[in-house]
Amino acid sequence: MKRIAVVDNKKLKDMQLKKHIQSLCPVNRAGTECIKIEKDGRLTIDEITCIGCGICPKAAPDAIKIINLPEVLDKTPIHRYGENKFALFNLPTPLFGRVVGILGVNGIGKSTAIQILAGILKPNFDNIGKEASYEQIINFFKGTEMQLFFEKVRKNEIKVSYKPQNIELIPRMQKGKVKDLLKKIDEENKLNEIAKELEIESIMDNNINEISGGELQRVAIAAAVLKKANLHIFDEPSSYLDIKQRINVSKFIRNLADEKTAVMAVEHDLIIFDYISDLAHIMYGSEDVYGSVSGVKPTKNAINVYLSGYMKEENIRFRDKQVKFEERKPFVKKKDVPLVNWENISKTLGNFSLKTEKGAIGKGEVIGILGENGIGKTTFVKILAGEIENDSGKLNEKVTVSYKPQYLEANDELVMIFLQDAIKGYANQIINPLNISPLLLKKLNELSGGELQRVMVAHCLGREADLYLLDEPSAYLDVEQRLIVSKVIRDFMEQKGSSALIVDHDLLFLDYLSDKLMVFDGIPAKEGIVKGPFMMEEGMNIFLKKLNITLRRDKESLMPRVNKLDSKLDREQKEKGSYYG
Ligand code: SF4
Repeated sequence: MKRIAVVDNKKLKDMQLKKHIQSLCPVNRAGTECIKIEKDGRLTIDEITCIGCGICPKAAPDAIKIINLPEVLDKTPIHRYGENKFALFNLPTPLFGRVVGILGVNGIGKSTAIQILAGILKPNFDNIGKEASYEQIINFFKGTEMQLFFEKVRKNEIKVSYKPQNIELIPRMQKGKVKDLLKKIDEENKLNEIAKELEIESIMDNNINEISGGELQRVAIAAAVLKKANLHIFDEPSSYLDIKQRINVSKFIRNLADEKTAVMAVEHDLIIFDYISDLAHIMYGSEDVYGSVSGVKPTKNAINVYLSGYMKEENIRFRDKQVKFEERKPFVKKKDVPLVNWENISKTLGNFSLKTEKGAIGKGEVIGILGENGIGKTTFVKILAGEIENDSGKLNEKVTVSYKPQYLEANDELVMIFLQDAIKGYANQIINPLNISPLLLKKLNELSGGELQRVMVAHCLGREADLYLLDEPSAYLDVEQRLIVSKVIRDFMEQKGSSALIVDHDLLFLDYLSDKLMVFDGIPAKEGIVKGPFMMEEGMNIFLKKLNITLRRDKESLMPRVNKLDSKLDREQKEKGSYYG
């Protein structure tokens, strides 16, 4: 197979249009039936006779995709969902005693690969409708680590536990107290120990539908680990967690790997990915068309190859641009025009109180906000937005604010209508770089998490405002989308001379985006203290010192990496007070 054709017949209902598309195909016109209309009305494309002229995808861009495959994929896919449907080539390899990470954009088969490894989905090797036998699978992987793995699967020696990506679905399917739900699956009587490690002891008596996103994530991880398994797969374990929790959960996951246990993780926070994985695969492909998996590499190499966009060994370019992190240049004050000032603000909400020191945001500044969950970041943002009145202190309230909340709500409004301001005013600055055009005719509640996030960011930026407040804009986005969104926000503020406050838990995202940092200190759910804005390095130092972790910059990619606790570098940086090296 040299090229792959994917047809979404649900989007191609008009028979006249199908016949028109068929009449355009040069292969059909020359007398060979390449585009066919089947008896049941489906339009199908013969991938062998198609010459990849690109005419039919232009006639129905939403419904037809024709992609030329790289030479290395001129072989049978491991699994194909049907005729002219998504194809997966290759699988990531679980290794005992190691955490193997999977890095890649959304929509290129990570879940399919995980389901095959977990034994939930039996591959068909392009033999549509026919599951392969274990003999075929083992034969396909002969001479590789995967052969040994599937031999174990056949002998029933592999037990898989899987922490899914969409934890929001759990409260819809499970009811009752956290403790009771976890007790039911506690096969080895480890619940107390695991609850302590994951810091969920205090919510054991709460109902599953009443806990926060960060708590739900840790309950889902606990549930996966309580199952007796020797292959643990975690799909995006850091979502909803703050940085402290991300580091804690990463350590927990790393400790699961031993000679009898293999661990795999899909993760989009690159700093956490780097911290959690010993080795890594890159997944590449074309969204909703095909996906493949690179050979396994040391994590640092995998990240650098991923950022470079080119895999030398496979001779595959999967991105036309290289991602480069820059050494932080000294902050240049853009214009010394203050936008909003505050001093000693205080606010009490139930048992929680928030206090600020003196601070100001200047015009054109992008300011990152760091802090644990439940420490009042959203409350502060709402005070600035005028949504909540402060009890005391001074606040210049003359700013107009555009606000993107943390939790995204979707209704049945069309994206095109919802985004009319952004479409009219900022097609080039917002709509095009965020790749929103393919979503315009969809309803908000039909979008995936990542699509909805991009639409909400566009909506926030599309409104006229002095100050843009974006709460967790990186949630649900893959690595590439995070980089794009951070660039869009930064460029937009620079061009418009507006200011932005960005609350986020992805350190790399904030590092890439922010001129300055604010740090939220205190005790979660009790007391929040707002400090800053500081210069980036000073702010990171204050924050990382509290977490007792140090970061260094990778010499090749300049990406920040977490130092191993008590390693030589960790000790040296701590002695110098340079937590953000
Ligand atoms: Fe025909 Fe292939 Fe060209 Fe489509 S891309 S019109 S199927 S030759």
